[in-house]
Amino acid sequence: MLKIRELRENEIPPIPSNVAEAERLRRLEFSVLDAGYVRFVDLMGDDGAIVDAARISRAATDRLGEEEAGVFLDALARRGHWSPFEMVELKFRVRAPIYVLRQWLRHRTASAQETSGRYVDSDLAFQSACNEWRGVDGKPLPPEVCDKLGELEYDACAALETVYTERLRRGVVREQARKELPLSTYSEAYWKIDLRNLFNFLRLRTDDSAQYEIRRYAKTIGEQIVKPLFPSAYAAFEEHDLYAVRLSRSEAGLLRGMNLANETRLLEAEKQLGIDGARRFFGKLSKQRVEI
Ligand SMILES: Cc1cc2nc3c(=O)[nH]c(=O)nc-3n(C[C@H](O)[C@H](O)[C@H](O)COP(=O)(O)OP(=O)(O)OC[C@H]3O[C@@H](n4cnc5c(N)ncnc54)[C@H](O)[C@@H]3O)c2cc1C
Repeated sequence: MLKIRELRENEIPPIPSNVAEAERLRRLEFSVLDAGYVRFVDLMGDDGAIVDAARISRAATDRLGEEEAGVFLDALARRGHWSPFEMVELKFRVRAPIYVLRQWLRHRTASAQETSGRYVDSDLAFQSACNEWRGVDGKPLPPEVCDKLGELEYDACAALETVYTERLRRGVVREQARKELPLSTYSEAYWKIDLRNLFNFLRLRTDDSAQYEIRRYAKTIGEQIVKPLFPSAYAAFEEHDLYAVRLSRSEAGLLRGMNLANETRLLEAEKQLGIDGARRFFGKLSKQRVEI
């Protein structure tokens, strides 16, 4: 027989603390590149939901205050316990050039739904380099070169647009008519991902080894949307992942050999990291893997 019990006050999941922030963000569109955007659509959970999920392993029934929760999330990230961050999900609607979406959709742990060029006329907005062409050394090319490339870009896009619209006018199906449309054509998608894998996306796609155009999207998502919605989780991500470094065996050996744990450095580390932080730091420097 089905038994129903009313939960006690401390058992009821609290209203997420980021409801008002989510409502504010839902009303905004963040422009990216010349005609792209990022919109926040929906979410499940807040900083507290990650803490609650992690604390079930100790059968905790009380709730942590905001400050304690921040310390807890920092400790989770420091120890590499990222699975509780999967309890939170975010959904976005994005408009990006196809060549950016192609990189974006390589992140397999997300769910995506994209506009179909078979069912909808492509809107024929092509992302323009806006005459800011980068050379292979990453520096801008001279203005006269950029002007010439801009003209060529304009002519090529205009010609491809004519080919596409002429095919449609003559009754060609969209799926075939689109085949010469450039990778710079804008497309739209819904994109849903949990916070752990979103952090992975943000670390990879804001890195300066990633293409500038996708970095613009990742930076917008991270700083404009994720940071205000999950202030403590984002701070933990910045501290232990985004701005952290991982050393190779040889690099760690080199650092160990530098004998950094002298009195002056210890004091300096304690001042910057606190006593526990300094202890952890020097502990890491002296740590050797124990072979079994
Ligand atoms: C600068 C840069 C250059 C790149 N260049 C190329 C390129 O030239 N060609 C190309 O094809 N891709 C390229 N990529 C894409 C890259 O190889 C990854 O596919 C992409 O960044 C997604 O990363 P991810 O696998 O960590 O993320 P996700 O796919 O979201 O996966 C997240 C994590 O889940 C786990 N996971 C997911 N799927 C599996 C699986 N099948 N098996 C085991 N574990 C899994 C892994 O731990 C993974 O890190 C590039 C990416 C970057 C950032």
